[in-house]
Amino acid sequence: MIPAAFDYVAPTSVEDALAALAQHGDDAKIIAGGQSLLPVLRMRLNAPEVIVDLGRIPTLRGVRDDGDAIVIGAMTPHAVVGSDPLVAEHAALIGKAVEHLADAQIRHRGTFGGALAHADPAGDLGAPALALGAEFVIAGAGGTRTVPAAEFFVDLFETALGEDEILTEVRVPKHTGWGAHYEKFVRVAHQWPIVAVAAAVRVEGGTIAEARVGLTNMGNTPLRAHAVEEALVGVAATEEAVAAAAAKATEGTNPPSDLNGDADYRRHLAQVLTRRAVLTAAGA
Ligand SMILES: Cc1cc2nc3c(=O)[nH]c(=O)nc-3n(C[C@H](O)[C@H](O)[C@H](O)COP(=O)(O)OP(=O)(O)OC[C@H]3O[C@@H](n4cnc5c(N)ncnc54)[C@H](O)[C@@H]3O)c2cc1C
Repeated sequence: MIPAAFDYVAPTSVEDALAALAQHGDDAKIIAGGQSLLPVLRMRLNAPEVIVDLGRIPTLRGVRDDGDAIVIGAMTPHAVVGSDPLVAEHAALIGKAVEHLADAQIRHRGTFGGALAHADPAGDLGAPALALGAEFVIAGAGGTRTVPAAEFFVDLFETALGEDEILTEVRVPKHTGWGAHYEKFVRVAHQWPIVAVAAAVRVEGGTIAEARVGLTNMGNTPLRAHAVEEALVGVAATEEAVAAAAAKATEGTNPPSDLNGDADYRRHLAQVLTRRAVLTAAGA
């Protein structure tokens, strides 16, 4: 189908984009890479009167070093994030998740911020962002505010972003030297995961000193597997010990049932994928 007619503006600064959003209110919608929004418009599930394109705002693109964090601009395409040396060195878990996100065309058009703002529970970037304790920088009429990942994802396709706000960048605390792996289970290649697990671990002399584990598609939002993380600290990075900790991966989850699998199947997957993700991250 062809989308309903809309006006189009392409501001060149965040200030001008905010002004356009303020002017048009509920009738306006932001477009980033368009990889999720355009299908919605084509199916006429949404019919905004004005599209505000962030694609001509250069300050929203790129990855930079900011002391104890790296900062990823919201309009940075997935492909750029996936090949960025700062991401590889300090936030390898994000890079691992991007490797498995959709296909090459979508990775070149879709953006880091667009995927997080879309908040699909099966989206691949929420769990690693949550696991690494990322912070979301949001610009609005009243200035800029920073929201921790644990508060950014509110519900199914719902975030802390207001209609008149823009996600400008994501600050990811450095996890330099940590092992990382994203284990994604799909029915066919280049698809959203049925379940996926994001794991980052710091290993000292064969023992897991710190662990961060995030779950994709095990609830309405990305989830942090706190019980697994606690069980991993201080244990040897062995198959047996990691499997015992991974058995706790279902605690606090509320997985959906759909044509790809029911909730029990997803609980089983979460345990298996957590074991695999942690062992690979630990280099075991
Ligand atoms: C065939 C296909 C397969 C895919 N497979 C996967 C997959 O395996 N894993 C995965 O994670 N994703 C997948 N995706 C989605 C992909 O990651 C998209 O790039 C992403 O979901 C949306 O990013 P975008 O930049 O295209 O945003 P858009 O589609 O332009 O926008 C998405 C939503 O976010 C809002 N928005 C965008 N940017 C901002 C911002 N800076 N501030 C505030 N609001 C904003 C828009 O208003 C819109 O509501 C797939 C998409 C397709 C079409």
